[in-house]
Amino acid sequence: MSISSPPKDFQVLFLDMNSFFASVEQQVQPTLRGMPVGIAPYTGGSGCIIAASREAKNLGIKCGCLVREARRLYREIKIIESRPALYMIYHKEIKKVIESFTPHYQVLSVDEFAINLTSYEQNYQTAVKLGQGIKDKIRSEVGDFLTCSVGIGPNRFLAKMAGERKKPDGLTVVELSRLEEFYSRIKLLDITGINHKLEFRLKSFGVNLPLDFYHSDLPRLRAILNHGGRLWYYRLRGYEVDDHRSSTKTVGHSHVLAPEHRSPAGAKAVLKKLIYKAASRLRAEGFLAGGIFVAISFYDGLTFKKSRRVSPFSDTHSFITQTFEMLCDCHWSGSPSYVSVSAFNLSSAKNIQLSILPEIEKSRKISEAMDKIDDEFGVGFIHPASVFAAKDSAPDRIPFGKPRYDIRH
Ligand SMILES: [Mg+2]
Repeated sequence: MSISSPPKDFQVLFLDMNSFFASVEQQVQPTLRGMPVGIAPYTGGSGCIIAASREAKNLGIKCGCLVREARRLYREIKIIESRPALYMIYHKEIKKVIESFTPHYQVLSVDEFAINLTSYEQNYQTAVKLGQGIKDKIRSEVGDFLTCSVGIGPNRFLAKMAGERKKPDGLTVVELSRLEEFYSRIKLLDITGINHKLEFRLKSFGVNLPLDFYHSDLPRLRAILNHGGRLWYYRLRGYEVDDHRSSTKTVGHSHVLAPEHRSPAGAKAVLKKLIYKAASRLRAEGFLAGGIFVAISFYDGLTFKKSRRVSPFSDTHSFITQTFEMLCDCHWSGSPSYVSVSAFNLSSAKNIQLSILPEIEKSRKISEAMDKIDDEFGVGFIHPASVFAAKDSAPDRIPFGKPRYDIRH
């Protein structure tokens, strides 16, 4: 959390695809355009709508509504079985568009991205031009039926809310000098992070409107919301308290190879062991990694080094496969002496929804189950078979099971 520097305008651009899954279906099946469409993993009456087209939303059919209920509201609604793999293809294409404009972005979910604006972009004109440019390019290169809402603001929280002010296809800027006006136009439940329970608590303390919330001083917010009060105080004023990403922090391990491991196979086996440990740490500390760095030094003095930006992960399988893909470029010119691997571009796992990726989710669950066994029986009780060769090298120096760094929640 950064409260040491005062908040500034035009720091974050938040992009949220409108009715994403439904729009993708309307993109690939033009006959669905203009029609109320609901997407559900199971299309029977008790299935749950996970996305609704804007036409369906206008009829009161929302995400979370049962298929049976949606049909009651509108008998002709088209219910489509969800196709996660298709949505992932579109997600990746959208990500490519964003990447063509800036490397300073973070994937928050399958249809949400946050862009940290650079000092050059931190003015009204350039920020708006960037937002409009991304919107236009998504339309022209990914799909002409795909729209998104863009919000620009002093922090992620305000940028996201700004984006929500105009759906679909909006581009809204919220500036510090106009926060009063911004809060005066919304309800407590419009505030990101305020649910019915929190709304009830605020109202029971006489905080009935967003403006009351904004005008409450720090001691008062602390009295109402305990520790969370401090975060809310700064968040509402435009300080960045929700960007958990740490650009400098990494989780990794390195190891000098024992003589029996000074071969490509030996180095790879030790690397796997290091990755296994680093991935466990990532999960224990609640991080997802968005980048991998790997290095191998050789006795002839050469060093192979490579880093790569990747889709956020915390599972061991993704970590191993992506690292080994990077090793394809290594020439193994001599005897390896030292290996190092780390994960960077860390973000809080809490902020990201990955359940759309069944294969990653499965691997994450397997990794978590293995962590639990480690917690119970001690590190190294079970290993993937591939780590077995290097089981006794690179011993753990850090205890598992408990947080090893202080992570802000
Ligand atoms: Mg969306």
